Amino acid sequence: MDQIKIGKFIAERRKKLNLTQMQLAEKLNITDRAISKWETGKSLPDSSIMPELCGILQITINDLLSGEVVTLDNYNKELENNLLETIKQKELSDKRLLSAEVLIGITATVILFVLILLAAVVQMSNGLRITLIVLGFVLFLAGCFYALRMEQVAGYYICKGCGHRYVPTYKAVAMAPHMGRTRYMHCPQCEKKSWQKKVLSKD
Ligand SMILES: [Zn+2]
Repeated sequence: MDQIKIGKFIAERRKKLNLTQMQLAEKLNITDRAISKWETGKSLPDSSIMPELCGILQITINDLLSGEVVTLDNYNKELENNLLETIKQKELSDKRLLSAEVLIGITATVILFVLILLAAVVQMSNGLRITLIVLGFVLFLAGCFYALRMEQVAGYYICKGCGHRYVPTYKAVAMAPHMGRTRYMHCPQCEKKSWQKKVLSKD
């Protein structure tokens, strides 16, 4: 998606309706700074605000994402481009999530080891020693929780048996034995248990 083009388009539509950035912001219950950020291409409107924004600007969401009023001639092409772009964006953010998962996992493990090492070798009261160890485990568990959550929501798992791709529940992911990101889980489609691989795309 061309953020600059979308920004210019929002500004153009707003001016055509004789609205200031402030007036548009008030209608949407947001700050005029947010509007200015959209119009300069620094950010995109939240998906939650898009329907209302498009209503005010008297355009469709497809127009907004295309950065121009889409005519019937190029409607399908623009729609397809926008859909493809959305899928690409999701795959990219999923990829980032999975990298963050690894980073959080490593950080949590390092913190746990450092705190245990400190408790073991540095002179301190027993109270402090226990606090350090408990803190280490709490941080480690919190890290594992978030890492697993990222793995659950990013991309899909593919069933080896029937090829079904799906997003499992957090519990299913947390309880399943795993080798790397390949997990031994129940497929919701064929209901068989097998090793299910993590994939980024839906098909
Ligand atoms: Zn299956």
